[in-house]
This record gives sequence, C-alpha cells and structure tokens, in this order.
Amino acid sequence: PYAFDESPFSPRFATLPQRFFAHVPPTPLTTPQLVVWNSALASELNLHPDALAHAGIDDYLGGNRILQDSLPLASVYCGHQFGVYVPQLGDGRAILIAELPDAHGQIQEIQLKGAGPTPWSRHADGRAVLRSSIREYLCSEAMHGLGIPTTRALALVASPTPVWRETRETAAVVTRVAPTFVRFGHFEYYSHHDEHAHLRTLTDWTIQHFYPQCAAAPSPALALLQAVIARTASMVAQWQAVGFCHGVMNTDNMSILGLTLDYGPFGFMDGFDARHICNHSDDSGRYAYNQQPQVALWNLNALAQALLPLLDREAAIAALHEFQNLFEDAFAACFQAKLGLTDWLDEDWTLLTDLLNLMHASRTDWTTFWRDLATVHDAQALATPLRDRFVDRDGFDVWLAAYQARCAQNELTGADRASRMRAANPLYVLRNHLAETAIRQAQQGDFSEVKRLQECLAHPFTERPEFADYAAPAPDWAADLSVSCSS
Ligand code: AMP
Ligand code: MG
Ligand code: MG
Repeated sequence: PYAFDESPFSPRFATLPQRFFAHVPPTPLTTPQLVVWNSALASELNLHPDALAHAGIDDYLGGNRILQDSLPLASVYCGHQFGVYVPQLGDGRAILIAELPDAHGQIQEIQLKGAGPTPWSRHADGRAVLRSSIREYLCSEAMHGLGIPTTRALALVASPTPVWRETRETAAVVTRVAPTFVRFGHFEYYSHHDEHAHLRTLTDWTIQHFYPQCAAAPSPALALLQAVIARTASMVAQWQAVGFCHGVMNTDNMSILGLTLDYGPFGFMDGFDARHICNHSDDSGRYAYNQQPQVALWNLNALAQALLPLLDREAAIAALHEFQNLFEDAFAACFQAKLGLTDWLDEDWTLLTDLLNLMHASRTDWTTFWRDLATVHDAQALATPLRDRFVDRDGFDVWLAAYQARCAQNELTGADRASRMRAANPLYVLRNHLAETAIRQAQQGDFSEVKRLQECLAHPFTERPEFADYAAPAPDWAADLSVSCSS
C-alpha cells in the first residue's frame, strides 16, 4: 500500500516530448481542508489505510505540498468548442501530480482540478468553486455506481480562498483519477499545428499504454480510431439509458478512453424531454439529450480528421460509418435490459419509440418510471399508478398491453424479469435538486449531505429505506435550477 509520504510513480505522460506539457506546481490555498474522502476508491488505489489520517493529506490534495520527487505537470490540447475550432486550450486548472498502480494492476493518474493557474489558463484563475467541485465529485462517483465508464473522484478539499464567478464563492480542489486524461483535443492539437511527428508519438503512446491490442493491426492508427469509436458509442448509449446529459460535449471534453469526462453543466433528466438542454449557456441546444449520439459522431469525425496524417482516408470514413450500428447495438442492449427482455427484435424499436413518445408528451419522470415498470411483472396492483404518469392514459394502456404481449414471448417468470429490470434501472440518480441541497449545506460548512448522497449513489440499484428521499421525483423548485458553464 502507498502512503502519502512516499515517492509516487513518475507519470507515463512525462515520457512524452517536452512539447506536450509544462511542469507547474499547484498554487497553495488558504487552510485547505479535506472534507470528503472516497474510501472505496482509496482502497481500489491501494492507498495505505492510514493515508486519510496522514498529517499532510489536506496539503497534498489541496496543492499546498508536493509529493516527494514529484514533478507536477499540465498538458496542452486544443479542440472544437460548440463546433468552433479553438487552436489552443489545455489543462487550465488541472495538474497531474502522480501516478499509482491500482489493485487491479492498472496504472491510474492522480490529478488535482482547481489547483491554480498553468500556462494554459488563458485569462482564467485556475480555480474551481466548491459548488461545481461537489457536482463533479458526486457525479463521477454516481456514474461509476451506474456502471458507466467515467473518470473517478478520490477526494474533495475545500478552502476559504475567495474565487470570483458571478459572485464571490470559495475554492475547492477535486482529486480526479483516470488511467489517462488524454482527450480528442490532444490529437487535434498536434495535427492542426502540423506537428505530425508529435501526432504519431502521441498515437503510439496511447496505443502502447491503453490499446495494446491495436499495435499488431495492419494500421494501428485505424485500429485505435475504430476502438475509440466503439467505446464512445457504448458510453453515449449508456448516458441515454439513464437520462444523463453531459452539457458540454466539446472535443476537448471527449476522453480517448471513452470515459465520461469533465463534469460541468451536466444533468440527469427528471421529466423526460427528448430535447432537454441541461446547460443554460447552450442556447441552440447543440448538446441537448437527443443530440448526444450525433454530437459524439461529430466529435469522432474531428478525431478522425486529426488522425488523417496517419490514416487512409477511405478507411477512416468507413470506420465512422460503423458508429451508427455500434451505437444502435449498444442502445438496444441497454433498453432490452431496461425493458426486461431476453432478446431484441426489430419490432422492439417500435415498442420503445412508442413508449418514449408517450413519456415525452407527458414529461414522465424518467428514473422512477423505468424503475417502477418492473412492478408490472411482480405486483399487478401497482400497475395503476403507472398509467397516471401519462396524459394519454389510454395510450399508455395500449402500450402496456403490447409490452406484456411481447414479454410473454420470453420464458421468464414475472419475479425473475422484475429482478433483472431492477438491476438495469437505477432507483437513485444525481438529480439536480439533490446536488443543490448538498451544495447549499456544504456552503454552510456541513458536508454530511454530500457524504450521504455519495454513499447512496455508489449503489444506485439497491433500494435502501434510509435513502427513500433520494428516490422521489424532483420537487417543484427543481424546475428553477439552472446550471451554466460557470464553474
Ligand atoms: P471546459 O468548458 O470546462 O471544458 O473548459 C474549457 C477550457 O477552459 C479548458 O482548457 C479548461 O482548462 C479551461 N478553464 C475552465 N475554467 C478555468 C479556470 N477557472 N481557470 C483556468 N482555466 C479554466
Ligand atoms: Mg474541459
Ligand atoms: Mg469543465
């Protein structure tokens, strides 16, 4: 086990040419205090059980103290933001401080987000506010609990250091964990700056460490693109299934590993609206719920373009054409499980579309509806409240009859089907108002609600009476919450 006063591994990223990063130490905060700790992730990371009690932990994770022999670094990238090419972005407030092998033998990068300015902060302050840091901490762990690929969060450090957004707020640092934080934007950077040797180096490095199976392919770069397309399609299908909207699917927020990355103005839908826009700054709805699959493809297209110096153009286009099939297969797999079916037939698309249309028309609560659909199979009496969630109750009755007829084609007992459905439809998601309530208390210095939420969201499929309040649909005041890019 790793104790916090030992030298960490030197990051693999530091083996890349100097051009890729700058060594930059975190900027100290006023009295950093570790306020939330993810002990499950800490043990996955093989951290010493005493790590939390380590006298210096607030300082290490707040950026006031640097791990022995560590050379913290920030990397440069670029990207397409809202469809517009931005030639230089980069880690403007995230600093990689160490790398550690986890309990499964995989090496994980440890990054401090909100650790102060870097050469790529542009005119911003390098900080993150407590509000958005809590959202990132809770949502990355909620996504992990849901089984959706994501970067992780180990700790949250708070400080009274003032940070100015629309108003005066305070600083916080999230310790983020992922095998790598490399984004599509890293590839775009070297491609569009005509540094094709660096593009090749980055591609080789990515394959060597994260996609070793691509190395033996006739075109490793093409194999990499194909693998990233498959992972991204699968990730977005899983977002759609839980009603998750990312909010800022810029290419610099797209992980080369297909991890959900950069939790800003994200949101889990309450009532189902296919055109739901979670980011208040997204006027055109570019990143609306129903746009996410095609935006993912748009972003993959940007990645493919960036890789063109290493690829055959026709092969890249063919790889992109595969996205639709990969996405549909992953999407069907998610909804087959949500519906409790043992297979997926062509006509199930109609069954699903009919349901989604009914839900959209009624703004039916996404999470509770799917969860409660299981009751149709094991407690017929509860089926009545389901129809009351639809304006068109008769329309729902027709759908339900078709659904039950479809289920009858599978040989499953009702109880078996219901329990499978409960394993596929979460009872708890990080609804906006739940995060907001936890944030308001934390801003008063009370982090108990953040911890309680995290504990619940770590096991979102398991009903626990002590968390009954988290399972309820949103209260009316939730409709007034708005989340923007400001963080
Ligand atoms: P995002 O929209 O969160 O993906 O951020 C876009 C870019 O702005 C990234 O390069 C971030 O590192 C940078 N950035 C965002 N907020 C800050 C901040 N407060 N200080 C420095 N850089 C920032
Ligand atoms: Mg970002
Ligand atoms: Mg962000």
